[in-house]
Amino acid sequence: MYDLIIVGAGPAGLSLAARLAQSPLRIALVEKQSEAALVNPAFDGREIALTQASIARLKELGAWAGLNEGETAPLRRADVLNGSSPFVLDFADRRSTEALGALVPNSALRRTLFEVMKGQAGCDLFAGESATFVKRDADASYVRLADGRVLAAKLLVGADTRFSSLRQSQGIGAQMTDFGRTMLVCRVRHEKPHDGVATEWFDHGQTIAMLPLNGNQSSFVLTLPGDAMQHIGALSEADFTAEIEQRTQRRWGALSLTSPRFLYPLVAVYAQRFTAPRFALIGDAAVGMHPVTAHGFNFGLASAFLLGREIAEAAREGADIADPLRLARFERLHRRATFPLFTATNAIAKLYSDERPLARLARSAGLRLMQATPGARAVVEASLRG
Ligand SMILES: Cc1cc2nc3c(=O)[nH]c(=O)nc-3n(C[C@H](O)[C@H](O)[C@H](O)COP(=O)(O)OP(=O)(O)OC[C@H]3O[C@@H](n4cnc5c(N)ncnc54)[C@H](O)[C@@H]3O)c2cc1C
Repeated sequence: MYDLIIVGAGPAGLSLAARLAQSPLRIALVEKQSEAALVNPAFDGREIALTQASIARLKELGAWAGLNEGETAPLRRADVLNGSSPFVLDFADRRSTEALGALVPNSALRRTLFEVMKGQAGCDLFAGESATFVKRDADASYVRLADGRVLAAKLLVGADTRFSSLRQSQGIGAQMTDFGRTMLVCRVRHEKPHDGVATEWFDHGQTIAMLPLNGNQSSFVLTLPGDAMQHIGALSEADFTAEIEQRTQRRWGALSLTSPRFLYPLVAVYAQRFTAPRFALIGDAAVGMHPVTAHGFNFGLASAFLLGREIAEAAREGADIADPLRLARFERLHRRATFPLFTATNAIAKLYSDERPLARLARSAGLRLMQATPGARAVVEASLRG
């Protein structure tokens, strides 16, 4: 019997395994994807904006050191634009000259976290295996792998995407918001420098983000209603480039595509509970954020650390690692850390994609109010630092 089964070797599941590296616990990590795909994850277009708090956590895990030169790019400031208004609301770390955070490809995070996990004693990897919940008794939770083997552990952790089947198997519902929009992400080279500034531009009928990468390159992020995106995703490279130059009004000068394009339908998810007897949820399976405030993995990493601390402490004391009081504390702290921003993010995403005149007026007023209220801006800046 294992102490812990983690289902899902995405960034959150890997982070939890790595967080427990120094413990004597026996861990089973189950992942649908093959080991080859985990060793060398394919680029998926996502550039993850990490807060300084997340960078510190990745350093603590030993994962930051595994990133290659050129895989991290500093994020110095974030500017928010509204339609054709010249007004710019900016967020920065005003207490120091430190960057707000850094951008790292999701594939690089998966690779470096996997390398940490592979070097770890006491963690068995079951790759190329899908896990299904079987049952729970007083001592353990049980899962069945696709090849028929059954694994048991004192605690089962679901880190199996925002559409978590383990969450469902526990009878845990989730608040799901389908925004009816799709996000297109790809890398572009541009003529004008970005100066390390991320731009979020809530334009009429579209949202554009440019996230600064190394050199004169950025991650171009376009959000449109799902049907409009079908057409754009299918354009030839030349037509696509012309289309996005026109959509960005050449704010960054001429653009050229430097990566494939990836589409992500936007659905935000918040689990009604994060725990059940001998069970816990972390990562997107607990809180699946709309990417506009760039907090999904930052929260996923925080959840791995919060749960990891409870498990490690219980193990040190020789107590049950699935102690209901400890699971309840994890749930309370993670909910407190995530629910306000989850709710605010959904409200922002809805307000800034609503083209009715009243909504346009409200967002323009909202940005100016934020600029004029240093306290409110400081709260957002603190959340961006983590
Ligand atoms: C376009 C985009 C931009 C983003 N930008 C940011 C950003 O700037 N900052 C930020 O913090 N976050 C960002 N995010 C969010 C971030 O990518 C996610 O929060 C993070 O990847 C979630 O990690 P996870 O490990 O919880 O889940 P996932 O990455 O979904 O991994 C789950 C894993 O579980 C496996 N799995 C599922 N079911 C089973 C099963 N039954 N058995 C075995 N294995 C299973 C899957 O194969 C997968 O490998 C962005 C997301 C998108 C889409």
